[in-house]
Amino acid sequence: MKILVPVKRVVDYNVKVRVKSDGTGVDIANVKMSMNPFDEIAVEEAVRLKEKGAATEIIAVSCGDAKCQETLRTAMAIGADRGILVETTEELQPLAVAKLLKALVDKEQPALVILGKQAIDDDANQTGQMLAALADLPQATFASKVEVAGDKVSVTREVDGGLETISLSLPAVITTDLRLNEPRYVTLPNIMKAKKKQLDTFKPEDLGVDVKPRLKTLKVSEPPKRGAGIKVPDVATLVDKLKNEAKVI
Ligand code: AMP
Repeated sequence: MKILVPVKRVVDYNVKVRVKSDGTGVDIANVKMSMNPFDEIAVEEAVRLKEKGAATEIIAVSCGDAKCQETLRTAMAIGADRGILVETTEELQPLAVAKLLKALVDKEQPALVILGKQAIDDDANQTGQMLAALADLPQATFASKVEVAGDKVSVTREVDGGLETISLSLPAVITTDLRLNEPRYVTLPNIMKAKKKQLDTFKPEDLGVDVKPRLKTLKVSEPPKRGAGIKVPDVATLVDKLKNEAKVI
């Protein structure tokens, strides 16, 4: 059983991004980039399934510029067997990525595609769902537990106020939630081994996909700045301020 794991190169989650002065986006020049944290969880889950004997091959795929090779090498250091880079300098929106992944699903015929539930840069939470629709596959989003048995996969999902467990027939699409697992640390020997693993590169045209953006970002703005805190002398003043100044009670 093959597992396809899409991994996105995003601004590292520790970096505090700044909005560009013209409001067209955030400034990512000279900023540390890393694998999207939910995708690290997806790679870890695929590796665990392989270690349990439920999977035989893990293919990591990243869509973007040549630097995404680093993200693929990280996925291979965690345990992916090979990587596919779909190389383009075009801005990729979730629908374009979903179409590229659909073409790779047709080519590789994986039994499972495990994506992150969302990319922490665009916060779109769309790609997995769009891929499931385009490839006509069952989907389980926000997975906090995944168990493969025969030609079925049982997925426990985090839903409002509790958990829901569903069973899907393979092939299927899963998106990971934060509590699915804790990704392992990448060791130096594994980083060295990853350098020798197979990495194939395609262009979107090779996959017959038009990746032109369909949406235009009109404006990006910083959240309002928080004012400094103050000390109040007593509870009555606090209640008065909450009621009449902050207007929250
Ligand atoms: P999004 O819909 O943008 O929030 O992304 C959800 C998930 O789709 C991510 O966690 C990745 O698994 C996958 N994904 C999105 N964009 C890319 C990309 N450019 N390359 C590879 N995977 C991606």
